Amino acid sequence: MKQMLLQCRIALSVIAVYTLIAACAACPALSAAPSAPANPAAKTLAERKDLFDKVSAITGIPWYNLAAIDQYERTMNLAKKRPIRDGALIAIYYPEAEWVGYLNPDHEDQNVRSIAFFGGRGKDGSGDGLANRNNDMDALYTMADYILSFGTNRDDFSIGLWEYYQNSRSVERIQQFSAIYAAFDSLDLSRHAFPLPLNAEYAYRSTWGASRGWGGFRIHEGTDLFANHGVPVRSTCYGIIEEMGWNPYGGWRIGIRDLNGTYHYFAHLSGFSKQVKTGDVLKPGQVIGWVGSSGYGKPGTQGKFPPHLHYGMYRDSGLAEWSFDPYPHLRRWEREEERAPIKSLKDK
Ligand SMILES: [Zn+2]
Repeated sequence: MKQMLLQCRIALSVIAVYTLIAACAACPALSAAPSAPANPAAKTLAERKDLFDKVSAITGIPWYNLAAIDQYERTMNLAKKRPIRDGALIAIYYPEAEWVGYLNPDHEDQNVRSIAFFGGRGKDGSGDGLANRNNDMDALYTMADYILSFGTNRDDFSIGLWEYYQNSRSVERIQQFSAIYAAFDSLDLSRHAFPLPLNAEYAYRSTWGASRGWGGFRIHEGTDLFANHGVPVRSTCYGIIEEMGWNPYGGWRIGIRDLNGTYHYFAHLSGFSKQVKTGDVLKPGQVIGWVGSSGYGKPGTQGKFPPHLHYGMYRDSGLAEWSFDPYPHLRRWEREEERAPIKSLKDK
């Protein structure tokens, strides 16, 4: 019975999507993005948000869950160097055989019935009667429809993700992205901040990959920013606190995951801001702790080296993580903040 109800709901959803599209086509004012932004990146985000809102309206899946899946797929497209369609708004990627069905002799099949017959995933979300894996609406709707088949509450979402990806890292990442989008109710979250206030005294140079760094890393996986004890340490990104606590090398350290799947690692802090805890969503410039010299021993060990912030960045390939040089990013964020102070960010 539950299955039948679900099927009914899906059938209704398909009708709804067609109606919605028809309504939009008939009324150009309706299909236009809410505020036509001038710059191309903002326009892309507005159009993408519009797609999420449409599919959310017909499936009941919150837009930020759809956005989180799409963004996760975008990071995987980059990490795995998967082909990206020209002008694609949606990054959700289906290999040919998965879309049309593994035994389907027609690898370019767009016929909804034969795709279903061969057990392919492809669905028609755009209402043109074709399941086109290169169509944004079809790709997004196909994913939404699959997730919807598990139900609409928070646990159902996790189960759907697990069934689809069969990988707990993917599930964790998408839930993190979802929390970040939900907290800010926006897709425009690419701004970064320098980890120390620009008016503090600090010094840093490119030390990534050096054979020896302060704090016992075998190769130095980060940049050391020297500053006095107690200088505020700030989040460099929109992100979520993934780890927080003591680590034998890093001392009091915080790890923040951003929407590119990048892990930002802040080590040797003298302490944490009382305002933040694991799982909290942060904005760039938000204070997370203070520069110190903790680490290189049992919990509480301090002063084995001069106070500094060790800042590392790690890229997530889906299965593994590797360190890359934060120095060029730090320089860029520093310059950006000189031009446009972080205080001018909307306070949200
Ligand atoms: Zn270091």
